[in-house]
Amino acid sequence: MTRIAIIGGGISGLSAALALEEARRSGAVDYTLYESSPHLGGVLRTEHIQGCIVEAGPDSFISEKPWAADLSRMLGLGDQLIGSNDADRITYILVRGRLIPMPDGLMFMVPTKILPTGFSPLFSWSTKLRMAQELFHPLRGADGDESVASMVERHYGAEMVDRLADPLLSGVYGGEAASLSVRAVLPRFAEMERAHGSLGRAMLAARKKMRRNNKPAAPLFTSLKNGMQQLVETVVPRLNAGSLLTNAPVQSVQREGGGWMVSAGMKSDRFDAVIVALPAPAAAQLLSICSPALSAELAAIDYSSSITVGLGYDREVRQSLPPGFGFLVPRSEGKRLLAATFVHNKFPHRAPEDRALLRCFFAGSNAENVWQLSDDAIIAIVRNELRQVLGVGFRAAPLFARVYRWKSAMAQYGVGHLERLDRIERLRQQLPGLALAGNGFRGIGVPDCIRTGQTAATQVLNQTALSS
Ligand SMILES: Cc1cc2nc3c(=O)[nH]c(=O)nc-3n(C[C@H](O)[C@H](O)[C@H](O)COP(=O)(O)OP(=O)(O)OC[C@H]3O[C@@H](n4cnc5c(N)ncnc54)[C@H](O)[C@@H]3O)c2cc1C
Repeated sequence: MTRIAIIGGGISGLSAALALEEARRSGAVDYTLYESSPHLGGVLRTEHIQGCIVEAGPDSFISEKPWAADLSRMLGLGDQLIGSNDADRITYILVRGRLIPMPDGLMFMVPTKILPTGFSPLFSWSTKLRMAQELFHPLRGADGDESVASMVERHYGAEMVDRLADPLLSGVYGGEAASLSVRAVLPRFAEMERAHGSLGRAMLAARKKMRRNNKPAAPLFTSLKNGMQQLVETVVPRLNAGSLLTNAPVQSVQREGGGWMVSAGMKSDRFDAVIVALPAPAAAQLLSICSPALSAELAAIDYSSSITVGLGYDREVRQSLPPGFGFLVPRSEGKRLLAATFVHNKFPHRAPEDRALLRCFFAGSNAENVWQLSDDAIIAIVRNELRQVLGVGFRAAPLFARVYRWKSAMAQYGVGHLERLDRIERLRQQLPGLALAGNGFRGIGVPDCIRTGQTAATQVLNQTALSS
């Protein structure tokens, strides 16, 4: 029987375990999953407070990436999948203290409708002129990677970076457009530029094609009725309870006699294969002895910390809020908050009709700057900034407030990330029986993490089948 260790009990590690279950039941495989904390699920955590569903970590996933919805359906949660309420989707950008709606037809930062963008106060006239000129943007001579900020600035100018690209990326990666790789983070845009030169022209062509296909647009985001933790709570009972070790931090992973020795606490165990399903810096630490070169590459993948704050308010505050999904704050506004979601609008099932549920977000340097403060002090900052942005309704104390801190949990794919992944893959292949999963590689969202866990399981099954 092949023995496999899975290190990390977040959604990546759990997906790997689930993918090994069939082989375990058939007696071909035995696996042990090590999780350092008392809980399985990693950053997927949901609290139910006064009738509200409060997400501590991710609140949904992008519908376009199928792996999370497919897994949910496979687990019998198909009827629990809910789409974002896109009929009411308005996202505001804070500009000089005022909330300005993102104009209709913007695809990320690419305008596809002339009138709404032309009349929007979100952009200055010089940026609007750049948008018109962008339609004649030539093909790019160079082929190398660059930062998202550099690409957006070449096409639309610095204001577009500050007001759109940077806030949009902060909301997803908790990182800055100036340091994120365009090829890793926005591969579609890099490809559109390569093929068309102009992003505007490429997007218009893509829209035309979509219209011809005549498919109804799926909601942008999908989630689960009872919150993201519902996924974890459904996966875990499908796994073999005896294979799941919590409060079991792994200290080292070493090659030994053609197999792997995994040490956790006072105990070491021998396995034929290991799936490391951890944030890259934690994976780097574990692999530092068996492959210093692989460890160094993993350690070079940056991570940023983030804080989410969930706040519940009464009907009066709900009525005072603008419609829409929430707002993003450009760094130039000098606030500490990066974003706030009006959860009761984005996912109406998540709050009773007489409640407003807000989810506020700090990340990167903004999170580091408040990290040492108490929960009460962070809540006071959030309330103060919400009052400045949304008005007097926010003088009232919230009905509840919760602060969730996530240390170094979000990968930042820097310029050259894809080349680093090639080097990582070459080094990994020199270590038979090792597979890597998690958010450090090709997508930080929940669907991509699920995919990496499933792929890692297939890799070790194939490898161990070949070697037996
Ligand atoms: C605040 C926040 C909001 C997010 N929002 C979204 C969103 O809306 N949509 C979306 O798609 N994605 C979102 N993401 C990203 C996504 O949730 C994560 O990338 C994904 O869940 C990571 O899963 P994982 O299993 O790879 O890692 P983790 O969830 O970090 O799990 C890793 C696990 O490994 C354990 N561990 C660490 N070291 C050891 C060790 N030595 N031994 C044993 N166990 C160890 C940890 O305790 C942890 O449980 C968000 C992330 C954060 C932090």
